[in-house]
Amino acid sequence: MPPKRKKPYTVPPVMPDFKRIRLAATAAASLVGGGGPPPPPPPPPAARRGDGVLRVAYVAIGQGDCAVLATPGGRVVMIDCGTSPEFDAGDNYATVAARAQAVLYDDLFIGATNHIDVVIITHPDADHYERFPAVLRPGTTIGRIYHSRNFDDYSTNGANDFLKGAVAAVTDIREVVHNDDPAGTGGPGETTLGGVPVVAGPPFAMDVLDPDGGITVVAEPNCRISILAAGVDHVYVPDHSNPTNRGSVVTLVEARGKKLLFCGDATRATERFLLNRFRARLQDVDLTTIGHHASDRTSSAPDFVQNLRVREAVGSAPQYVAKHHLPSWPVIARYQGIMAAQGLATAVPGNRIRSWHGKKNNWDTVTMPIYTTGSHGTILREFEP
Ligand SMILES: [Zn+2]
Repeated sequence: MPPKRKKPYTVPPVMPDFKRIRLAATAAASLVGGGGPPPPPPPPPAARRGDGVLRVAYVAIGQGDCAVLATPGGRVVMIDCGTSPEFDAGDNYATVAARAQAVLYDDLFIGATNHIDVVIITHPDADHYERFPAVLRPGTTIGRIYHSRNFDDYSTNGANDFLKGAVAAVTDIREVVHNDDPAGTGGPGETTLGGVPVVAGPPFAMDVLDPDGGITVVAEPNCRISILAAGVDHVYVPDHSNPTNRGSVVTLVEARGKKLLFCGDATRATERFLLNRFRARLQDVDLTTIGHHASDRTSSAPDFVQNLRVREAVGSAPQYVAKHHLPSWPVIARYQGIMAAQGLATAVPGNRIRSWHGKKNNWDTVTMPIYTTGSHGTILREFEP
């Protein structure tokens, strides 16, 4: 339970209409562009999935995770969909599900087709999967599901059975293992899908090893989505965490010359594995999620954050939920310091973020493009051709 507050304070509402966030973000972006007048606004586009734009929305789902992505070629990928029993003021299970549903069924994403090409569930903690049955409307189908660990662990709210009913065959649900774990701590390094070794394949094939060592789960001429880590169990460095978080599926989207990274609740040990295997590929990342709801205790090691050379970072965490004290200010400050020093990101003057300084919850102002779903609401980013 949150501690009793002596004085009431104003919590800015998380905006339920993500398109308003989109417009606000577009306006902000034009304000902070380099010299010269802002470009004229584009004509009202008939924006919809498959129009060549790469889009991602990070849903304000409370103490949980939910991202929806549409590829330039029109495939829809959903990464996680879950929350926790503690909410910001005004939110509850139903409001956050409605928010996710409004994003998913918008024409920018699946629209009326009611089909999600790929679902990735990073790991079997309920705050990453328990909203699927509430958010997916009856009749919505799923092409493939990738996950870590045993699928029957995804049982809160019957999500495992619900999701089995949304795929054509249970073989479309595949446990991913992609690690270098030494013998004795989970077996020798393994790269498997549903227990079957992943092998190199032709360009634009799915479920094959890409030339750079990831497992390709979406392949289009302008977009490759690869799983870089899953089922990491070995404690490469202490991470104050557990194999469930450490084993999170980590996904990289490379499209339109951009890189988007999705970390789930990956820990410092997972990050060490990623640096060992993908150090060069994980540089110059345009947009990353901040691992484990911006937990400083388990994730976002300084050398990992530094390596990303990242332009923009989004943490999925509420504003004021005392249970886990997330997002953590030291992580926000670390991103702020590293991004400011590297000089690759575009400054955002007066960017206000609410986070936990130990057990104290503060609003702070940062200058770098660092956002949380609790402080900024649902966030939509679009990458034009
Ligand atoms: Zn989590």
